[in-house]
Amino acid sequence: MSTKKRMPFALGLTLLLPLVSHAIAQVQSAANSKTQIVLLGTGTPLPDPARSGPCTAIVVNGIAYLVDFGTGVVRQAAAASKKGVRGLEPINLRIAFLTHLHSDHTLGFPDLILTPWVVGRKEPLEVYGPPGTSAMAEHILKAYADDIDIRTGTKIGTGDMEPSHTAGYRVNVHEILPGVVYRDQNVTVTAFAVHHGKWAHAYGYRFETPDRTIVISGDTSPDAAIVENCHGCDVLIHEVYTQASFDIVSSAWKQYRLAYHTSSKELAGIATKARPGLLILYHRANPGCDQVRTEECREAGSEEQLLKEIRQSYQGKVVSGHDLEIY
Ligand SMILES: [Zn+2]
Ligand SMILES: [Zn+2]
Repeated sequence: MSTKKRMPFALGLTLLLPLVSHAIAQVQSAANSKTQIVLLGTGTPLPDPARSGPCTAIVVNGIAYLVDFGTGVVRQAAAASKKGVRGLEPINLRIAFLTHLHSDHTLGFPDLILTPWVVGRKEPLEVYGPPGTSAMAEHILKAYADDIDIRTGTKIGTGDMEPSHTAGYRVNVHEILPGVVYRDQNVTVTAFAVHHGKWAHAYGYRFETPDRTIVISGDTSPDAAIVENCHGCDVLIHEVYTQASFDIVSSAWKQYRLAYHTSSKELAGIATKARPGLLILYHRANPGCDQVRTEECREAGSEEQLLKEIRQSYQGKVVSGHDLEIY
């Protein structure tokens, strides 16, 4: 099997940590580096054509680090590269971090494995995610075994027709536990545990680059880990739902939201304590209301309503994120 499991994560890190050169490189690159946050997908399971599945790119010195890979990930990356973010050219997508295994965050996994390879990626994809990520990658590769055989010419007589590279479809999965999970000359990435209903492993991530510290919540109910890890960070990217929509959904959906997600009121409290330079709202969920599809629900879960609620009790700078925005 072409997936490679590295447990514990420290084993993987030993291969990635030229610590001395890392320190020098950080000093050298700090002067001219500029970290970009590219919102590739700000959506939820709702198939909203304006909001792709969850995916955030941190781009530093031309290298893209993805967090989650929802529906549309590679096409959104291609769109961002056309806007001038070279690191997001599909063949350059090589490193990704996964918050948890919910389908809306992982539906782009086969896309991220296969599409960049078909268009020319020669290196394996490196994926850092919770336990279970490795099994998911193995199943995807099994599902596409015939496609891979034919494109690589493993099947007799086909190799001369489509000579795709034999390493670019491979996936090195690093199943991680909370802590520093990755470090190179551009970033130090820390995974931290958050509460997301029945998921045993759900992570938020803290990225430290030469010029910025960025915290991404992933999917989470209100969690003190966000405050601890942001602690005056430059940017906090956090999921959220509106209180107005919560008030009109069924008690079953209320219970679901309380266990899995964070309301505007709760996030205002968290952000007040976390003190980010900028709060970006993403994954604006409206579960229980989206299913009802009434105008009342749409208004109660709208972006306008969300910003109004947040600003009622949060004094900091806040924006509602949209696909393909760059911060
Ligand atoms: Zn989600
Ligand atoms: Zn989730």
